[in-house]
Parts: sequence; structure tokens; C-alpha cells
Amino acid sequence: MAIKYIKYIDKINLKGKRVLIRVDLNVPLDKNKNITDGNRIQSVLPTINYSIKQDAKIILMSHLGRPKGKPDTEFSLLPVAKYLCEVLQKKVILAPDCIGQEVEKLVSEMQPRDILLLENLRFHPEEEKNDREFGRKLANLADVYINDAFGTAHRAHASNVAVVEFFKEFGGGFLMKNEIEYFRKAMVEPARPLVAIMGGAKVSEKLDALENLIQKVDKIFIGGGMAYTFLKALGYDVGKSLVEGDLIETAKMIMAKAKERKVALLLPVDCVAADQLDSRASTKITSIQEIPPGWMGLDIGPATRVLFAESLAEAKTIVWNGPMGVFEMEPFSKGTFAMVEALAESSALTIVGGGDTDVAVHKLNAADKISYISTGGGAFIEILKGKPLPSISVLERTG
Ligand code: AMP
Repeated sequence: MAIKYIKYIDKINLKGKRVLIRVDLNVPLDKNKNITDGNRIQSVLPTINYSIKQDAKIILMSHLGRPKGKPDTEFSLLPVAKYLCEVLQKKVILAPDCIGQEVEKLVSEMQPRDILLLENLRFHPEEEKNDREFGRKLANLADVYINDAFGTAHRAHASNVAVVEFFKEFGGGFLMKNEIEYFRKAMVEPARPLVAIMGGAKVSEKLDALENLIQKVDKIFIGGGMAYTFLKALGYDVGKSLVEGDLIETAKMIMAKAKERKVALLLPVDCVAADQLDSRASTKITSIQEIPPGWMGLDIGPATRVLFAESLAEAKTIVWNGPMGVFEMEPFSKGTFAMVEALAESSALTIVGGGDTDVAVHKLNAADKISYISTGGGAFIEILKGKPLPSISVLERTG
């Protein structure tokens, strides 16, 4: 049977070649255009540094923000070019655009080890339309294509899908390799028991992921705002907690499926209840049965923290997405931080993904105690849904 595989950058000859690398440099900026979190840039440095060592001519491309399909200095990649210069200790030229004669001229003047950063791809509406002609124009700039932008892997855009068909030599970068390898270890061939921890605000945003996970995991914990739709479905009065009324039947169906598959589905038994969503709210710890009328559950309670942490004891693989409570506010942060600590202490393979979840891990300085922190919020959720990601599918070869 033909096996699908992805060729990675370390198996591709880059020497003297023009290498077009799609990276996700969509970093947050403050009003003075300072980068407030450079993690996304840091995570693609291994691919860039490797390309330098291989004497490639390096052409980087990315989007930044939502410039609505036309040039807008507000969304220029200039701050990123400066940041790259500093961390690489190398000159990085920012092109005036991502396609066109001026860019072609800059590329034609490149020497091995030079780095050219193309201006924001989304200055052209064709990028988000996955336009074939735009993809061809980007491809004309280079000999080899590398995709290292896991953060945008769930979107079919010209720079990560249409562009690929114009290259004989293409593959994934080191970040992409890590993300795909860890995903395989967690969801395709997991060491069992495999435990999923799901949290965050709404069931509706993670419904497909929950339905897929129920088919794969041995245990699943549901915390955060999501839990209250399930608790309501079980007949509890959860006061003003976040409940999606139209999903109560779906929650019942998910619980029935879990039972049928003998998957242990754990819900909170207690919570930190508050009279309003405010860090200065009156709070009390109550069992789920005793949330006062008009109050809302904003974090898992101490008994649930122990229940969830102890239920991880046997786990060999743990996948976590979404906070256990409104952890941005100190009174409702203990549940999420307790899960960070439980994962940090676990000897299982631990994989954390989704913007908010990794923020909690970093806040506790626990990143080095987690096996892998995914860089893709949306892409990570798509992976949990079990759906193929378009820009990864086009990198696959059959052989
Ligand atoms: P998500 O992006 O779906 O992972 O949701 C993250 C958000 O869920 C965070 O901003 C939390 O404040 C919020 N959240 C977590 N638990 C609760 C809760 N019990 N009630 C309301 N919002 C919550």
C-alpha cells in the first residue's frame, strides 16, 4: 500500500537555492509597534538558522493582522524585520511587497545566506482566496518551498496551498515537523491511557473536537464554561453559569456516546461561584448542586482540582485545550493553574494547545515541564476535530 509522507527541510538540498519559507510571524504589537510576544518568531528560528547554515537564499513570507486586502502601513512587517535582525544578528531586508518586479529584482540580487522578508501577504486579497495565479507569482520567486506556518495550517490560502503545485521540491520546516510528530504521538498512535482535558468558554466552539475525542480517548475531563451545559443536561440547576441551551441535547448525546465506548467522562463536582463576572465579585466555593440562584460557576472548585489531578495518575498521554475557569481573573485562576501543575508533574507525554492554555503554562513558568506546547490555536483545534488540514495535505507525497 502506498504510504503518505511529508519530506522535511533536512532531507532537501538547499545549497545556493532560493528557498521560499511560509512562516507565521503574525505577532501581537502594542500601539508603538513593539512586539509584545515574540514566541511565534522564536519558534521558526530553527528552520531559518538551518537554511542559513545550508547556504540557502532565504525568502520569508507571512501575514500580519487583518489588513483587508490592501497595503496598510499599520500592518507592515517592519517591526518583525527589525526583531529578526536582532535575534539572528544578521541583516534582514524587508521587501516593499510580496510579488512584483521590485521584489523579483531584490531576489535576483540575493547571495547565499541572505534573508529577504516579503511584505504582508494579506495586502493582496488573492492570498486569502487561495488564488492560483497569486500562488504562481509567489512560486516564481524561488526554487524550493518550505511551509513552517503551523498556526495557519487550517486555512487554505495561496501562500500555503495554491503555491505548492508550482514547485518540484517542497516540504515542511522543523516547527511543522514537531507539530505533526506530536500530533501523531498523541492522537494516532497514543500510549494509553490517553486523557483529554477540555475547557474554555463554549461547547459550540469545540463540539466537533469533543465528538472526535470521544471516539479516541480513554478518559475526558470537561471543565471551564463548557462544563455547565453538560451539568445542566444532567439536571443540575447551575444558576447563571454559561449554558448553551440549544446544545443540551448534544451534550446528552456526547455523554451517551462516552458511556457506550466506556470512556470515563468527568465533570466538575464543585466550583468557585461568584455573583458576577468580576475580579471583585463576592465568591464562594460550592458543590455543583448548590450554586446559589443568580450566581455563576467561574472556576472548578478544590474537590474537582483533586479529582482531575488524581485521575491523571495512570495517564500515559495527556492532551489539554482550554482553561478550567476565568483564569485571567485571580479569584478564578486556581483550577487552571492546578491543571498546569498536574501536567508538569506527570510523567505522561503532555501536549497543550490553544492560545489561552499556553498562556497559563507560561504564567507558571512550566513550559519546560510540558512535553509539547502547540503553536497553533485554531489549527490545534482542527487537529482535535480529526480533520485534515489543507496546507498539510498538500505537502504530502505518496511513495
Ligand atoms: P476558549 O478560547 O474557548 O479556550 O475559551 C477561553 C476563555 O474561556 C477564557 O477567556 C476564560 O475566561 C473563559 N472561561 C473559562 N471558564 C469559564 C467559565 N466558567 N465561565 C465563563 N467563561 C469561562
